[in-house]
Amino acid sequence: MTDHGPQPVDRQLPTEEARDLISLVREMVQREIEPNASSEEDAGHFPREVFALLSASGLLALPYAEEFGGGDQPYEVYLQVLEELAAARLTVGLGVSVHTLACHALAGYGTKEQRAEHLPAMLGGGLLGAYCLSEPASGSDAASLRTRATRQGDTWTLEGTKAWITHGGVADFYTVLARTGGEGAHGITAFLVPGDAPGLSAAAPERKMGMKGSPTAQIHFDGVQVPDARRIGEEGQGFAIALSALDSGRLGIAACAIGVAQAALDESLSYVAERRQFGRPLADFQGLRFMLADMATQIEAGRALYLTAARLRDAGLPFSKQAAMAKLFCTDAAMKVTTDAVQLLGGYGYTVDFPVERYMREAKVLQIVEGTNQIQRMVVARHLAGPESR
Ligand SMILES: Cc1cc2nc3c(=O)[nH]c(=O)nc-3n(C[C@H](O)[C@H](O)[C@H](O)COP(=O)(O)OP(=O)(O)OC[C@H]3O[C@@H](n4cnc5c(N)ncnc54)[C@H](O)[C@@H]3O)c2cc1C
Repeated sequence: MTDHGPQPVDRQLPTEEARDLISLVREMVQREIEPNASSEEDAGHFPREVFALLSASGLLALPYAEEFGGGDQPYEVYLQVLEELAAARLTVGLGVSVHTLACHALAGYGTKEQRAEHLPAMLGGGLLGAYCLSEPASGSDAASLRTRATRQGDTWTLEGTKAWITHGGVADFYTVLARTGGEGAHGITAFLVPGDAPGLSAAAPERKMGMKGSPTAQIHFDGVQVPDARRIGEEGQGFAIALSALDSGRLGIAACAIGVAQAALDESLSYVAERRQFGRPLADFQGLRFMLADMATQIEAGRALYLTAARLRDAGLPFSKQAAMAKLFCTDAAMKVTTDAVQLLGGYGYTVDFPVERYMREAKVLQIVEGTNQIQRMVVARHLAGPESR
């Protein structure tokens, strides 16, 4: 195995069409994403041109209905596409996942008229989305958010600040959760806000440990006027919509994590086949072979777990518990596998000459976003305690 370097991932895909899709994505990744991934991440360059290409190719719309320009693909296929994208560059894989999350509210809870008016452009018209739940003072406790929307006639006025917004400042639309009623989860409503709305502005992007090409910024709403026709769902339904989006979004994060881990394993396999110490390739040492076997096992187990959750979702069955488990397991696995990859490459692994240090920095953020892994454990534990405690 190790003597010949990495082998292509042997994917479980339901149809010939899905196999063709994965081949197309691999070709695009090799041509358009991989060659510049490390240098553009170092430079903090956001690859807007890659997202334009993905949009034009239907890859920003995979799990949504064909009627509105979507790809009508099951989640088990969409997630494996995400995995391929994230393996090449997390900024792209996570970006597609966040865009999909931003479309979820309108696609799932919008009226027929709203969907017909906005979804085609969001799914395949070159637009890029962002999802605004977190705030400076409300992260894990998202239901305590303070951004307020006040209604006068048919217009809402938004005031407040959202924090940590992926695509903040570059997005064309923002799915925003704002308080329209009293305290707690029932006082929150969802809105679809255009990126160029007067009064909406982005702070300077955060200076992050990794994923430097992906802009993460605070978004200020300073008297932003939003017509009631852009309210999504009922007043007070926003938090339920946000949580439903996150159940699906967490599967995206799980798939991205497995992509990053797979990339780290592949790089490690190539390296140990080439590098020689004590007169033999590193691949000959049992201590390292066992490490590689553990890395591969974590990856396969994570992939199987996120696919189990995806197949439940595709079958219309509850999948919230499995989604939290998949996010937790896959992102912890990615952290362990990428850290081991740095170890396997020795001193070279600690330099920017090899991508494994980037993978390790990228894996870390996946344990934090869309509910930290402590929050995932809380979600799983609530499911274990039965329906009353949820
Ligand atoms: C790069 C990046 C991109 C992001 N993109 C987006 C985005 O697009 N949209 C968006 O809305 N948000 C986004 N986020 C925000 C992200 O979802 C939050 O950072 C995350 O939910 C945690 O919130 P916090 O940072 O406020 O941490 P806190 O909630 O303050 O948590 C701090 C620590 O306390 C732990 N903790 C908190 N409560 C408990 C508890 N009850 N029990 C045990 N431990 C607990 C947490 O697990 C964590 O370890 C992004 C964050 C990052 C870093």
